[in-house]
Amino acid sequence: MAKRKVYKFKTWIKILIFIDVLIVIGAIVGYNYYKDYQYKETNEYKLSQIRGNSDKEKYTEQEIKTILNKLTDEEQKDLISRGYNEFYPCFIGRPYFIYSKLDQYMEYVITKEKDFFKYHGTEGYDYDKLIGIVNSHANENPYESDRVSDESKGYGMIANKHYQLGDYAPDDLESIEWKYRFGDANTKIELRSEAHAAYLTMWEAAHEEGIYLLALSGYRSKKEQEKEYNYYKTYKGEKYADSIAARPGWSEHQTGLALDIYAKENSDAKTFDTSNAFKWLSENSYKYGFILRYPKGYESITGYNYESWHYRYLGVDLATKVMESGLTYDEYYAFYLDK
Ligand SMILES: [Zn+2]
Repeated sequence: MAKRKVYKFKTWIKILIFIDVLIVIGAIVGYNYYKDYQYKETNEYKLSQIRGNSDKEKYTEQEIKTILNKLTDEEQKDLISRGYNEFYPCFIGRPYFIYSKLDQYMEYVITKEKDFFKYHGTEGYDYDKLIGIVNSHANENPYESDRVSDESKGYGMIANKHYQLGDYAPDDLESIEWKYRFGDANTKIELRSEAHAAYLTMWEAAHEEGIYLLALSGYRSKKEQEKEYNYYKTYKGEKYADSIAARPGWSEHQTGLALDIYAKENSDAKTFDTSNAFKWLSENSYKYGFILRYPKGYESITGYNYESWHYRYLGVDLATKVMESGLTYDEYYAFYLDK
């Protein structure tokens, strides 16, 4: 009687163990299946499965890493829904890429830069410049936008061919004394108060190093700009006028924060950038809040020819940040401030 009971008990244990093993195996298989299912739901997996026209056209591991690092979950999902495009990762990998402008980057590539890509492919192209152009609206026709310069940005307010000042006029203009500027006793060259003070401080610092700066032009009202622009337009035509002067209501000089600076030793637009004064300004102007506004090689972004004499007051903090970024002010404004 007792023996039979033990036998039964052993069988019972065996069955229990068997069931346990089944449960464990089932759990492992289920877990793996679930994990696999979960992975297939990730953006990473979906990106890796996207194909272009052939099986070779797909995002590389590195490209997928970049996409996952730089885009939000929502942006990643949107990108997945777009399908394969060899240009997307080229743009996304750049530091000043803005996802909401992806279609504009592509449109610019297709309409304006088509031939370039035809001959050079996606490699070796200056994506940063293209992104800069689109970010700062330089892909649009000049003087056609109804965007208005944002006064609330203070000394950082933007003025270019895509943001107009309209009738804006600052109310804290001050006149630069004769010692610091060109012209005779009656010449009036004005700047906004803080920019004026900064210019004088900069002037002294330069002077201590043997540089004699002289201001040539500061604030220009919309009316004055109109006079200048129309003068060129009347005598040499609109195309010439546009190449040399901003249209009234669109000039940075109307902010009272732009200053054309030359030196006693050199006031020639063609050679000023070979002068010691220019060298000094290039190295030091940001310390006083001024930046070179239309640098060489960035005409397609600023919309202006290189002007070694045109400086813009932004305040020391902002000027330093812009300087350190290596961006034009148009690009800096578009990426960091236009929100
Ligand atoms: Zn100027």
